[in-house]
Amino acid sequence: MLQQTQVATVIPYFDRFIKNYPNVDSLANASLDSVLHQWSGLGYYARARNLHKTANIIVDEYGGKFPQTLDELIELPGIGRSTAGAIASLAMGQSAAILDGNVKRVLCRYFEVEGWSGESRILKKLWQLSERLTPKARTGNYNQAMMDLGSAVCTRTKPKCASCPLSESCLALKNNIVMQLPTPKKRVSLPVKERYWLVNKNDNDVLLMQNPPVGLWGGLWVFPEFETYNELVNWCIERKVNSKELQILKQQRHTFSHYHLDYTPVICFSVKAEPQIAEPNKSRWYQTNSHVKIGLPVPVSELIKTLTG
Ligand code: SF4
Repeated sequence: MLQQTQVATVIPYFDRFIKNYPNVDSLANASLDSVLHQWSGLGYYARARNLHKTANIIVDEYGGKFPQTLDELIELPGIGRSTAGAIASLAMGQSAAILDGNVKRVLCRYFEVEGWSGESRILKKLWQLSERLTPKARTGNYNQAMMDLGSAVCTRTKPKCASCPLSESCLALKNNIVMQLPTPKKRVSLPVKERYWLVNKNDNDVLLMQNPPVGLWGGLWVFPEFETYNELVNWCIERKVNSKELQILKQQRHTFSHYHLDYTPVICFSVKAEPQIAEPNKSRWYQTNSHVKIGLPVPVSELIKTLTG
């Protein structure tokens, strides 16, 4: 949960998640829909799908016992080299290096490493530094200290160099370039995708479709989506949905890390029992006043709330 997300945001999600899935068996036995429901609003949904997949692998292939070697950990969905190192060192007392965002920032500044860490050349250099510094004993303490140093002292916008235990030998401080490091990624303006969302309403129910289990909103339930308004109208005509009284709402923006999604909700009303309304298993009438547990992206759940009160 903490990948790409701040602790304060994560805490209520974590508490709810652990309450619902107190052990690996309960997570493995849960439906993906209910796991995505618990994750709704936290973003980066691949993490939830990977967690669910990993729980199943642990139960099916490891008899419910967490794998113990770095190589096995890295094989699990959603666990990269740094997370594997953190699990091995903090949870299992092994010696393994980590390189999360906080550690990267400390190393970039302390050793004056220039260049964006997304470039493989720079990343390789940072891993070499991290591995060279990582001690064989009490590695968990060392890794935790490095992460804490990055999050509490060597912060992105207001580093506290005056009280930093590394200040005497920090190259970025010596050369007065602390705020220039780490080198940011070159800014490019995000592309914009325009889409139309068909909000097919019947009293308090709305028609939703489930995304395939990959991609940004993989496995989540969304409104039928179209690239053009004409496609949306044709879809309505083909399925005998009343397209004459479509109501177009104001366009809204949701920003992902790689693009802006500008979506225009279009409301229509249709008879719920319409048999040809969508393919089986991929669509459902969602009762907005029920507490059915399915995963909904924030813009979808907010729109539902606005429209149904
Ligand atoms: S001296 Fe400043 S820049 Fe250097 S590691 Fe410490 S907090 Fe970061």
